[in-house]
Amino acid sequence: METIQIKTAAHCCAVDITDRIDAVLKEKSARNGVCLIYVPHTTAAVTINEGADKNVMDDILEKLDSLVPWQGGYKHAEGNSAAHIKAVLAGGSAQVIIDSGKMALGTWQRIFLLEFDGPRTRRIFIQFTGERAGSDL
Ligand code: ZN
Repeated sequence: METIQIKTAAHCCAVDITDRIDAVLKEKSARNGVCLIYVPHTTAAVTINEGADKNVMDDILEKLDSLVPWQGGYKHAEGNSAAHIKAVLAGGSAQVIIDSGKMALGTWQRIFLLEFDGPRTRRIFIQFTGERAGSDL
């Protein structure tokens, strides 16, 4: 397993981590298999969605804000229940197929860390399972 760290810059934001994941896969000589991307946090998430138009992630974050307002009469004493709820909605992991050394993402797809209670330093666990270049030699 590999771990990368991301410093988020806002209370709620989306950080494109595709290139960081790709760098790990290249370092590991990942050839064919599956990559699990896992966020070990309760107020952040990971998702795969459009990266070509920045407005898409802005729309997603704004809609989540309207669906789950920060003040909502929640019981959790820490005061960040909205962040926990958004993390549940968005999900804590994603998987990508690795084919011939490349992530099999769609044309517009990118991998995003979603921050719901930042700014913070977040960790992302990356586990590749499958065939590595040179492993059949
Ligand atoms: Zn909390």
